[in-house]
Amino acid sequence: MNEISQRISAIVNQLPQQVRLIAVSKTVSVEAIRAAYQAGIRDFAESKLQEAIEKQAQLQDLSDICWHFIGHLQTNKAKKTLQHFHWLHSVDSLKLAVYLDKIAGELNFSPQVFLQVKLLPDPNKYGWNKEDLLDDLPVLDHLRHLKIRGLMTILPLGLSETDKLTAFQATQKLANEIQQKKCLNISMDELSMGMSGDYLLAIQSGATMIRLGTIIFGTRK
Ligand SMILES: *Cc1c(COP(=O)(O)O)cnc(C)c1O
Repeated sequence: MNEISQRISAIVNQLPQQVRLIAVSKTVSVEAIRAAYQAGIRDFAESKLQEAIEKQAQLQDLSDICWHFIGHLQTNKAKKTLQHFHWLHSVDSLKLAVYLDKIAGELNFSPQVFLQVKLLPDPNKYGWNKEDLLDDLPVLDHLRHLKIRGLMTILPLGLSETDKLTAFQATQKLANEIQQKKCLNISMDELSMGMSGDYLLAIQSGATMIRLGTIIFGTRK
């Protein structure tokens, strides 16, 4: 547990001020989450709803944790997901966005969300490609309950450092392009990208939230 706090200090010391470190605690024990909290972390991300609900129940005393959802969202669990998370990073289709907006309206709640994009083809990942996202923007801009704050991306495995940087920069460029369109309800003030293996490149490309698991908690089982 001491190791966790040492790893966090090493990372935090080199982070620019505007970058928010989100500890990805999927598969990680509640004790390890507490250790990260003691080291100053207040943002935690989970990818499975049921697992998150169980951990949140055991961590109720840490009431200032901000919970981020980063897994693929299923519509039949949309309501519960909205009730258990402050931020959703993985809104990955128009259909899902429209549905979440409706549920958010019913709950009278405005969740902060990212639109997940994949600018390189990747059969293992969800998300918009550039063309489809630009086509869908007018509809997205009409959603009144979701607070769309930016783009989120996960890079495909096996890219060279150069290709990773290019892909992150393309994501930043797309966010800028969307910002230029002066949408009424869509803001691009946040950018969620960067994991343990690529976060420095993501920061270099304008990331404002990095999502780190392994480098904080060690290899997942
Ligand atoms: C698991 C996961 C992470 C963390 O990955 P690490 O390589 O362990 O840092 C970040 N983002 C998403 C969406 C994930 O699923």
